[in-house]
Amino acid sequence: MRRRAAQALHYGTHYGPHDPKLAVHLMREDKMQRKFIDCRSVPSDSNCTVAIAADTETELLEAAVQHAVAVHGHADSPELRQMIRGAMREGTPPLDAPSRAA
Ligand SMILES: [Zn+2]
Repeated sequence: MRRRAAQALHYGTHYGPHDPKLAVHLMREDKMQRKFIDCRSVPSDSNCTVAIAADTETELLEAAVQHAVAVHGHADSPELRQMIRGAMREGTPPLDAPSRAA
């Protein structure tokens, strides 16, 4: 869990090391807020219906990159990661398919 430690450190420095309570609070908020990517809302030619959710943007990004490479045949590139970040939504995937512009 080196990543979480680094994140805590980041919050600590970003919001000031003199207020550890605030840092802990922010970590909890971050942990509770799920993030997800729903392939149904992303334009694709494979009509993929997979949705991926995670507690942190880092986890979600890694899972989504693996999915995009394995299933959609994308190359793992900064552009792909940028696109995935742009497709992230807060919360959990809806039961009903979001409307796809197709
Ligand atoms: Zn997909």
